[in-house]
Amino acid sequence: MSAQDSGALFVREASAADHPAIAALTVAAYVGGGFTAPDSDYVPTLADVTSRAGAADVLVAVGGGGVVVGSVALAVDGGPYAENAGPGDAVFRMLAVSPSARGRGAGEQLVRACLERAVAAGRDRFVISTQPSMTAAHRLYERLGFRRNPAGDWSPRPDVSLWSYTRELVDLPAWCAHCGSAKRGRPDGSRPDRWPGEHGKCRAALAMEPPRYCRACGRRLIVQVTATSWRSTCSRHGARTAAPPPRVRTAPPRSGDET
Ligand SMILES: [Zn+2]
Ligand SMILES: [Zn+2]
Repeated sequence: MSAQDSGALFVREASAADHPAIAALTVAAYVGGGFTAPDSDYVPTLADVTSRAGAADVLVAVGGGGVVVGSVALAVDGGPYAENAGPGDAVFRMLAVSPSARGRGAGEQLVRACLERAVAAGRDRFVISTQPSMTAAHRLYERLGFRRNPAGDWSPRPDVSLWSYTRELVDLPAWCAHCGSAKRGRPDGSRPDRWPGEHGKCRAALAMEPPRYCRACGRRLIVQVTATSWRSTCSRHGARTAAPPPRVRTAPPRSGDET
């Protein structure tokens, strides 16, 4: 039985049909949670899921009956949502869970999905920003391996201070994108069959060829090659392309009070 059938929560990429639900639950979480004033000019940004989807990968947590109960925007290829992160860093923002769906693990599943996708994209580190008052989110981040990074704290506006958290990704399972053997520990704790130093030839091949295996789950990728580009798709973690497609540069997201 699939997760969809069992009524358990699962995470998938958002479609345009999800945008109104994402807008409603994000505003409810930020304004209803007391983190953003109802008249703040950040509220229209929280509700503008279409711009978000043009600048980042928007993921949703879906509960029983297909109801969208949470959402997050993930940026693994830079762009306007990664304005405060370094070149190789992954970022997520606007993590929100519907107030009526709290306590069921939707936030954790969304963050775990972000971690897996960042590994699949070959990223080594997450950098996120959060309001100092979002203490429930901080507990979740710390439980999932994020650590306070005071050196990265910043103020997008004079009246707004944001805390920085980071998480290195080197402890998460990873597979070789060329030969498919485990490079780091597997989820079941068993030992990798090979060690990173043995993949020198794989690295050389990957400079010339598309990846064949997903770094985050080891699944064989569906590879499509054109004269100038390639696209490798994992059924669970989405597509990687030879060069990231240019993101629609919408109005830069306001960074006033996001996570
Ligand atoms: Zn290899
Ligand atoms: Zn995968």
